[in-house]
Amino acid sequence: MDERSIVMVKLTFYGGIREIGGNKVLLEDGKRRLFLDFGYPYSKYRNFYEEYLKPRAGAGLLDLLVMKLLPPLEGVYRDDLETPDLWQQFHQVEHYRRLEGVDGILLSHAHLDHSGHISFLKEDIPVYSTATTAFIAKAIQDSGKVDFDQQVCYFSPTVQKCPAEGWKQIAYLAGNSEKHQRHFRIADVKPEMLTTDVTKFWLQGFWRKTARQKELISHPLEEHVRCSFNLRCFPVDHSIPGACAWGIETSSGWVIYSGDLRLHGKRGKLTEAFIEEAAQLHPKTLILEGTNVDKATNVAEQEVYENAFKAINDAAGLVIADFSARDVDRLLTFLQIARDTKRKLAILPKDAYLLKTMRLLEPQIPDIAQENALVIYQETTASRSPAWWLRNIYQEYSSKIILAKDVVSNQGDFILCFSFFDLNELPSIRPRTDSLYVYSSSEPHSEEQEMDFWRLHHWLERFEIRGFGLPVEKNGKWEIPEDQKGLHASGHACAPDLLKVASEIRPELLIPVHCEKPDFYVDNLSGSGIEVKLPSEGKTIEI
Ligand SMILES: [Zn+2]
Repeated sequence: MDERSIVMVKLTFYGGIREIGGNKVLLEDGKRRLFLDFGYPYSKYRNFYEEYLKPRAGAGLLDLLVMKLLPPLEGVYRDDLETPDLWQQFHQVEHYRRLEGVDGILLSHAHLDHSGHISFLKEDIPVYSTATTAFIAKAIQDSGKVDFDQQVCYFSPTVQKCPAEGWKQIAYLAGNSEKHQRHFRIADVKPEMLTTDVTKFWLQGFWRKTARQKELISHPLEEHVRCSFNLRCFPVDHSIPGACAWGIETSSGWVIYSGDLRLHGKRGKLTEAFIEEAAQLHPKTLILEGTNVDKATNVAEQEVYENAFKAINDAAGLVIADFSARDVDRLLTFLQIARDTKRKLAILPKDAYLLKTMRLLEPQIPDIAQENALVIYQETTASRSPAWWLRNIYQEYSSKIILAKDVVSNQGDFILCFSFFDLNELPSIRPRTDSLYVYSSSEPHSEEQEMDFWRLHHWLERFEIRGFGLPVEKNGKWEIPEDQKGLHASGHACAPDLLKVASEIRPELLIPVHCEKPDFYVDNLSGSGIEVKLPSEGKTIEI
């Protein structure tokens, strides 16, 4: 018997199965183990939870394990979240396992549906990512309201308090003021680059401290070479910078994990290069996303520019542009439109913080201080004692700050980057009736989001603002009217592009994830020489 037949490489799928996001794939090769992403499963959460009904942080892992939002894997989660006797309740449940040691998490990008549940993993399991992904993940956590189930970069370990006499609770986990940082190992940057003067300064101020400038129990960024596997990190194009695909050399051959990707974006060349290099490895297995298997074509970012430019150029009053600012390509598209229509693009402080952070690693990102067409909108009811990161933004860019009153008197001068959740600024701005709301994001994919659009339409009616590119309800379905499409370039490849990725990489075996209709690959790759296996929850595929 040769060695290969003894060591069987196993892939077990705990998330991302017939759902968009929540990817959690366990790769095992003998005693070596990796997770490929460890994402927050939005659609599973929505089955049980909403804004005012959430898993109880004070119950540690209990709620998530009982509600099957986390796989029952003893030994991989933070000890401080485990109440005494926790695991005894789960020894008999389906897919329960005790795992001795995980060598790392390969994180594909900083979207929470790929990264969020890293929050629960033991703090010394290293996270392998690109430098941009590590920095964006931290900027998102610093500047957002982050629950205990989305603390990707740092967390407060909980302290178990014995119930006082007479209490009947089984556990009470209280937050600790100490913050612990996760161990990030950077795959695409050499250590020298992380210790140049500018990054050294930032590593002290940015990487090592929380948003409130508390010192973290910090772990410096490291290079990735210390992994027990031979790894390849391939930068790819997606709707957030820093995205990558991974290659893992196993006893059965190379396993390629795509993360999320597209070919039609501004950096589509990265994805092309990935396809070519991955093909040269003659991989055994390709784990490929399939978000847009039902889309036959893509909208390119250039079309978004052209369509949005046309609408905004004709507008006389205030323009509100609704898009994800983490999609930096889209932000740059609207910045160009602002320049070309002689307006100023007003971004929120958290977007400014993200841009500033990204510029550390990507010098082509515009410098807010130098960019004439860029200003920062300070929310009207901003706190008197803002967090450290926010105070820094206000100080560093003081000449760039605008307030509602500046917009009131010069409505035609601005494009405001607002989303639905920023609409409560409008009573201070009082948009005139010649205002325009440009929607440049995806159509709703849950009832809650449909409800938000229903409210958004009421806001627009209240202020008599014209909407453009907005989904409207027709026979119970929310869709963007045909003549107002083309304002959003998806972060994901369309069906023909996904088939190109598969057929050019040519793995022996393809396993779809992050996909609601994985049968697409079975139907379209039959007879191609590529075998397709569909994963199921908690089940192992041996390769
Ligand atoms: Zn994504």
